Amino acid sequence: MVKIKVGILGSTGAVGQRFVQLLENHPWFEVIAVCASERSSGKTYKEAANWKISSKIPSKIANLKVRSCEPNFGAQLVFSGLDSSVAGEIEDNFANQGYIVVSNSKNHRMEKDVPLLIPEVNPDHLALIKLQQKRRQSKGFIVTNPNCTTVGLAMVLKPLHDAFTIKSIAVTSMQALSGAGYPGVSSLDALDNVIPFIGGEEEKVETEPLKLLGTVKNGQVIFAPLKISASCNRVSVRDGHMESVELIFSKKPEISQVIKVLSQFKGVPQKFELPSAPPAPIVVTEDETRPQPVLDRDIENGMSVVVGRIRKSNVSDLKLTLLVHNTIRGAAGAAILNAELLQAKGFLN
Ligand code: NAP
Repeated sequence: MVKIKVGILGSTGAVGQRFVQLLENHPWFEVIAVCASERSSGKTYKEAANWKISSKIPSKIANLKVRSCEPNFGAQLVFSGLDSSVAGEIEDNFANQGYIVVSNSKNHRMEKDVPLLIPEVNPDHLALIKLQQKRRQSKGFIVTNPNCTTVGLAMVLKPLHDAFTIKSIAVTSMQALSGAGYPGVSSLDALDNVIPFIGGEEEKVETEPLKLLGTVKNGQVIFAPLKISASCNRVSVRDGHMESVELIFSKKPEISQVIKVLSQFKGVPQKFELPSAPPAPIVVTEDETRPQPVLDRDIENGMSVVVGRIRKSNVSDLKLTLLVHNTIRGAAGAAILNAELLQAKGFLN
């Protein structure tokens, strides 16, 4: 198979570096362009990126010249890990010029004709693409993945909502430092500490799942009618967001039913055997000391959400703890799976 040529916008950042790493030996995609700000353009990738991943910079990328984020190179698709202060305009520009943009940034997520996508949760939302292409009068379009905390949460909510109808949830997150990019939180603020505020995070976690669990009717997403209350904290962990969740259902399930529904959950990526799809998108552990970021974030190459501590609650119907690798399933891995779904569904032909 001839590989599809792709570029990476924001290639030098925390998410951009993950794209570079995860796409190194991808069977369908070949990185031909790495883009970043004017600070980096003109330098080789190895000079521009402050590489923070434990594997080496892929040799094909290390000496590539970093480009500015202009839609002037021969790729069909671009992955975006751009800072949100610039992502909106740059991504629009690429889509309007005919590129397919698969983005991590928040800017376009809640636009009416932009799919906010998790392939296991709402693949049918790709129906919005046609409307977006019409608006742009371009073959290009933008598809987004959710906020890193939302990805783990929505993947767990989906099978539970389908089986037992969720009425409301309260979620408390413990979010890793890499979620703030690099250099992110200063070491004196992070070390020996928990910061009980992450700007804009709670709003995203309270609204994005409603779109993800929503249904497409007449070209519009009707949001799911559940209520979410989020409390987001930054903790001194390198990678991996933990979330403690309390749930109230319309049809109260037994704990054994919840374990069964979560363990058996599969979606379109598993059916199509997409290259980045984990065999089980949700891994349930019955070890009461798990999940833990250090031990569990890399399960299935960081693409599975790990759920544990499923138990009774005195204030809700049930509580559980989940873990999601924030820069893999919560960001670059999520976007790559989105692009694989686009290919499998014929959007890249
Ligand atoms: P980051 O480490 O700060 O990287 C930001 C990237 O944007 C860098 O490549 C930077 O290039 C580029 N950039 C900044 N200003 C630019 C400009 N004026 N023109 C062109 N490029 C510019 O941030 P990050 O953590 O990777 O996050 C990237 C995006 O993904 C954000 O929108 C974030 O909210 C989202 N996200 C992050 C995570 C996570 O876990 N980190 C998870 C989900 C979503 P230079 O190196 O040249 O400055």
